[in-house]
Amino acid sequence: MQCGTCGSSLERPGDYCLVCHTPNCDTVIVCFTRQEADLTMLDGNTHIGETTITTTPEHNGEAVVVELRNFAGRVADEIRRKRPEEVYAAGDREVLREARAQLHYTFYRVPSENPVEYVRERQGKRSLDVVQRQPKEKIGGSHTTLIGGRPGQNAIKVVAGHPHVKKIIPGPIDASGTGSQSGLRAKVTRADTNGNVRLLLRDGSSVQENRIVTTAMDRESGEFVGDDLNDALAEAELQWMTELVGFIHAVDINTIIWLIRKHEQLAAPGALELDTGELLAVG
Ligand SMILES: [Zn+2]
Repeated sequence: MQCGTCGSSLERPGDYCLVCHTPNCDTVIVCFTRQEADLTMLDGNTHIGETTITTTPEHNGEAVVVELRNFAGRVADEIRRKRPEEVYAAGDREVLREARAQLHYTFYRVPSENPVEYVRERQGKRSLDVVQRQPKEKIGGSHTTLIGGRPGQNAIKVVAGHPHVKKIIPGPIDASGTGSQSGLRAKVTRADTNGNVRLLLRDGSSVQENRIVTTAMDRESGEFVGDDLNDALAEAELQWMTELVGFIHAVDINTIIWLIRKHEQLAAPGALELDTGELLAVG
């Protein structure tokens, strides 16, 4: 394929031209399965080309992690060399999440069925607005208390940091639940017909339902924002666990016990189990 501006030959379809410094596509749409990533490059509404990247999924332990990371890395490299303005992604969430983590692009989520047609139909129409306000300026309403302590606040911060979240309105706290599990649980609900969602915070027997106003106009686009938020919350929790495990390697056993007791409320039960295993290894 040749550069649409200067005619230099490009290694792959839709590559950014390094001779005349001109992009050859503005949009990449990537559809993931666990074995394959199909990339379609568009420039405006013009179809520029397609590329497929495949992998052979591994099945056990560390090999899976390495293989998934390499696969996602190759997809990320392929997208990066196009220097697109927008990236749309559909399909396998595990690979999608890993590719997004490596790429630092906002992935706009689209349905797996005919994702290219979906994007083309919407080209030129209003895409979801990006809210420029600072995360803390997005929180409002008459209830200012949040449950879950610092993890609760972190969950709110993660949600408020999303570009399509306009406002978070904390709800009243319901302490009449029967749950006894300690540790914060944060989950975003399905979207309503206006594209807005709710962030459910659960901490022991307390539940708080917080309204999240998004820039989505309908249920379908609201669902994509909701999926993104749930992914971001899961990532934030994983990050916290990784930090804790890293920290454990750096300190002595008494500090570790103190730390675990102190943070019992913060960590997910899974994290504590993992950390106890690390503890045994250290002790
Ligand atoms: Zn060129």
